[in-house]
Amino acid sequence: MNSEIRFQLTDHSRISEVDFSNIPFGKVFADHMFVADFDGKQWTNLEICPLHRIPLHPATMAWHYGQAIFEGMKAGINQDGMPLLFRPYDHARRLNISAQRMCMPEFPEELFVEALKELVWLDREWIPRDEESALYIRPVMMATDEFVGVRSSDHFKLMIMNLPSGPYYPKPVSLFVEEKYMRAAEGGVGFAKAAGNYGASLYPTKLAKEKGYDQVMWMDAKEFKYVQEVGTMNIFFALRDKVLTPDLHSGTILDGITRNSVMSILRERQIPVEERPVSIKEIAEAAERGELMEVFGTGTAAVIASVDRIGYHGRDIMLNPANWKLSGMLKSEINGIRSGRISDTHGWITPVRSTVTA
Ligand SMILES: *Cc1c(COP(=O)(O)O)cnc(C)c1O
Repeated sequence: MNSEIRFQLTDHSRISEVDFSNIPFGKVFADHMFVADFDGKQWTNLEICPLHRIPLHPATMAWHYGQAIFEGMKAGINQDGMPLLFRPYDHARRLNISAQRMCMPEFPEELFVEALKELVWLDREWIPRDEESALYIRPVMMATDEFVGVRSSDHFKLMIMNLPSGPYYPKPVSLFVEEKYMRAAEGGVGFAKAAGNYGASLYPTKLAKEKGYDQVMWMDAKEFKYVQEVGTMNIFFALRDKVLTPDLHSGTILDGITRNSVMSILRERQIPVEERPVSIKEIAEAAERGELMEVFGTGTAAVIASVDRIGYHGRDIMLNPANWKLSGMLKSEINGIRSGRISDTHGWITPVRSTVTA
């Protein structure tokens, strides 16, 4: 494999067009992108170049058969102007877990991180400075064979984009407990960041929105009893004496890196965390007894999203996130580590010093 990255830099940065005090999430792209092609045997044509559209044949397999996966991660920047990648090796590993399940080629982890470093270094002026904001990094891999017929593609494309982003969910979110539609079943692809999982979630989410909720709280696909996750976030329930989060054994829940960071931070502070099946009944009863203290979603984009209402069996479990200690502490800790304000004792940060393009 030729792992040399070619560089073609922009001669006209678009950065002056961006209002960094008000960045709509998911719409603003930094100057450069990374591209690589899998030719059936190996990854080739590694390139960092100006962000551009790619011409694709109508029979491009990804669109027809859903062989597509993605990742989502963040970089911050410290006081000295050094970009900091948050857990890039964990994202590289998860990309490959998704790739394996979807019959796609793995991308070497070291090379993935090297590509990220080069790309983020080039776009470092695009990393927002305030610590609630960050550079959101979106890798995507897709099948590119031009073929009509269901089989695995031979050719694939990996692309990585950078998006400056502000705070994601400035307001608390409301959740609807979904007992008819499901996100992922055992044996399926719920643990993979596979594109089709999200397409399938849109209709139930639309119905939940029509009922006045922001997101769906997904239940298990067998009994619709056990909480899985919410929208594109993992979920935590803080009771008086412990924190609960669904375990990953079923393979139906995405192994969130923010989820993992949150558990580490809680355990480090001797706050008991139980990873186990969590029934919605148990949560509703805890709320009834006044023991449900905080509910929050975790994910790279939002980091921590407080939940202020859960619709369950025609009633609303109401919560008041105004002064939640745990959610606030966790968000501040993760944002602080990613921006270099809090020193990284977990080995989560990969600093980007000068690179070959420096
Ligand atoms: C990406 C994602 C998450 C959160 O994972 P992070 O690694 O924390 O960003 C949770 N659930 C689903 C379904 C996701 O796609």
